[in-house]
Amino acid sequence: MNLDWIQPAQRLNSLPPYVFARLDELKAKAREQGVDLIDLGMGNPGGPTPAPVIEAAQRAIEDAKHHGYPPFEGTASFRAAITDWYHRRYGVMLDPEGEALPLLGSKEGLSHLALAYLDPGDLVLVPTPAYPAHFRGPAIAGAEIYPLLLTAKNDWLIDLEAIPEEIARRAKALYFNYPNNPTGATAPREFFERIVAFAQRYKILLIHDLCYAELAFDGYQPTSVLEIPGAQEISVEFHTLSKTYNMAGWRVGFVVGNRHIIQGLRTLKTNLDYGIFGAIQTAAETALNLPDSYLEEVQQRYITRRDFLIEALRELGWNVPKTKATMYLWVPCPLGVTSSDFAFTVLQKTGVVVTPGSAFGEGGEGYVRISLIAECDRLGEAMARLRDANIRYGTPANV
Ligand SMILES: *Cc1c(COP(=O)(O)O)cnc(C)c1O
Repeated sequence: MNLDWIQPAQRLNSLPPYVFARLDELKAKAREQGVDLIDLGMGNPGGPTPAPVIEAAQRAIEDAKHHGYPPFEGTASFRAAITDWYHRRYGVMLDPEGEALPLLGSKEGLSHLALAYLDPGDLVLVPTPAYPAHFRGPAIAGAEIYPLLLTAKNDWLIDLEAIPEEIARRAKALYFNYPNNPTGATAPREFFERIVAFAQRYKILLIHDLCYAELAFDGYQPTSVLEIPGAQEISVEFHTLSKTYNMAGWRVGFVVGNRHIIQGLRTLKTNLDYGIFGAIQTAAETALNLPDSYLEEVQQRYITRRDFLIEALRELGWNVPKTKATMYLWVPCPLGVTSSDFAFTVLQKTGVVVTPGSAFGEGGEGYVRISLIAECDRLGEAMARLRDANIRYGTPANV
């Protein structure tokens, strides 16, 4: 029987090609050939979840009250832990009834928010490069995406002045993310003030992804958009337990901010899912209440790896600025080589996996992202292989 008539919906065809698929193929092939892969491609932190979090989950899993459907809006105590965390960290006051919503990981919420707020033809402003959910969610919703090109010259900050007046007027929402994945850039508080003023002026819903809130180094403190006066009326902010607490597999994150915006997302989600297993919410609550000494330990781990890798890259002739946050280095490819060709070559010649910048949109072309997810001995081994394979290095293409 001819089954050509089984075709996915148009909305799937609107998605840009998934660069990771080809990379996965090459990784599988290398593994088959017995190559000892060093995977610095994913943003998946290595290492276990902190012991007190696991223990809290183990106790909670025995409790029958978690065995039924969880409440749609998340447990009251996890929501309270979220709003307490915001108060402690940023001095931001939020109502746990309506201004905080637990999510099955922030990726889900970032994409579903687009479905909840964007109709086909609506205009959304999205930086390029960006975390894929920031443009794939709107693409699934059928929205028109206006790309905001980030450049090294502008320190990877959004150039608000470059947005044409008529585009700003038409735009319904804007996604942004600092500390930034994939560039590792951070934004000063003045930038947050400017973007809030911009969004107020043009009546644009501000969607901030603060997923690297705690992976900040050398005394740098990331800004929450909700700290900026007036922002709470027009913004939501996403955060995740995945990165800081090594909980990527648990699937738990949250969104906070304007209650009307959150209500729209909640209404959509009540039609799609039942929320998070209660025991996982208990675990997440425990994680948010871990003492600062835990955070300092995590930060120190990434600082050590960052400094080690920057120095090793420098010895190879590759100059990469010191990042103040995130778990990534954003490094230029040789001129004239696409980021995917470069990443594929590195993988084939050395067994080291890095992510092509083009996976984060066209604005990521010319760069690859290296994740600080291995210990220094493995990072050192990766660098030794690059040196032995005589991989050519790049200077920033767009400076
Ligand atoms: C890792 C990451 C996320 C997703 O985290 P989950 O909560 O695991 O879905 C969201 N945004 C950015 C920028 C990320 O790097």
